[in-house]
Amino acid sequence: MRLLLILLAASLWAQAPKRLHPVVEKVTAGVSAERIADTLKKLESFGTRDIHSTQIHEATRWIQQEFTAMSPRLKVSLDKHLAKKRGRMMRDVEVTNVVAVLPGKTQPDVHVLITAHYDSVVLVRKPAVGNAPAAIDNAASASAPKAPGVSDDASGVAAVMELARVMSQHEFDKTVVFIAFSGEEYGLLGALGYAANAKRSGMKIEAVLNNDIIGNDDNGQGLKVSNVVRVFSEDPMDSPSRAIARYVRETGERYLPGMKVDAVFRNDRFGRGGDHTAFNTNGFPGVRLTTVAEDLKKQHSPDDTFANASPAYCAQVTRVNGAALASLALAPSPPLVTRDVTKTEAESGYSVQPNLARGKETVDAVLKWKPGAESDLAGYAVVVRSTTAPFWEREIHVGKVNEFTLRNLSIDDAVIGVKAIDAEGLESAVSAYVLPKRNFPAVN
Ligand SMILES: [Zn+2]
Repeated sequence: MRLLLILLAASLWAQAPKRLHPVVEKVTAGVSAERIADTLKKLESFGTRDIHSTQIHEATRWIQQEFTAMSPRLKVSLDKHLAKKRGRMMRDVEVTNVVAVLPGKTQPDVHVLITAHYDSVVLVRKPAVGNAPAAIDNAASASAPKAPGVSDDASGVAAVMELARVMSQHEFDKTVVFIAFSGEEYGLLGALGYAANAKRSGMKIEAVLNNDIIGNDDNGQGLKVSNVVRVFSEDPMDSPSRAIARYVRETGERYLPGMKVDAVFRNDRFGRGGDHTAFNTNGFPGVRLTTVAEDLKKQHSPDDTFANASPAYCAQVTRVNGAALASLALAPSPPLVTRDVTKTEAESGYSVQPNLARGKETVDAVLKWKPGAESDLAGYAVVVRSTTAPFWEREIHVGKVNEFTLRNLSIDDAVIGVKAIDAEGLESAVSAYVLPKRNFPAVN
């Protein structure tokens, strides 16, 4: 009830008007459905991009050449990993990711990624026996001559390449990384190799926007949805990945008022996977963007063709990506809202604590966060929502401080977060104060 009263006192907490940033607007305006169509057709023209095929190497070279021709400021490289035979693979395979890096101006060590996979697959099935579902013929699948993979996932690669083309004409604070992964269809192979290296080297990755199946808006069964894209994010409710999903929704819908970003609060669809998960399992925030109107009958079949794709829809989803990616790349980093644990806390099973307290009156929420180092940092906003609400409900601009007290707000009954804002109004993703996990030491 107290929270409700606080939230009703909304006149003090009025939402600040959100400005559109000119560079972000230029990025979304620069996306061309025609160029995306050309990329989809080109990737289809290789016939197959199965990791066992020779054709995939031609696709690798083509993507590398395209990135290289876009701008001398893009640093293009091939990132190779030897994947041992597993699952549906017929043998060990070296997979090659194509990576283009646009170095950041003021925070070059902080990275935001947009990713997709350029390998494709066709699943050939053995004749069904009795009522059991037909088993996959691994050998026939690996050698199938036609695996066009246009929606899955030339569409994501087209988004990555189009944004590399457009964004390499501008400068960003953070380093933007554009990646076409290989081996997704055989178990996220290229992404797992890249993410493991990133973790080993201590690479700072603030967000991964993975695009997989964004090329069609018709599910072949009567559902056509051209103005919605789903964003999947891992649990729990305030995971860093979910903060990115909320950010994509907020910025995507702000810059593309005709598009709805449908946040799905689960890691992925049932029985399905994607390269964002390779980052999540290595401790990095990452989300997956996917069409609402998946055509499950055409996926992983020779019918996943350009003729069945929608370049216009793919371009709209690319613009949503562009709005989020460019905003993130220009904005400050999310504030650090945790503190080191005390010796007693460590002995009680805590490894991290939110920098949050009840205050002297025990009914206030006292928040602290670490000052950001960005030179254009203007201040912070505190955000609040009910524990059962999916999205932030209130926002309070608190200025350039590193501590703030919300009077008469129980920290137990609300979710509270902080975001950083720069002089041009660009906002970081939100860092939420989350209930820490506690691993009780065993008693024998
Ligand atoms: Zn895919």
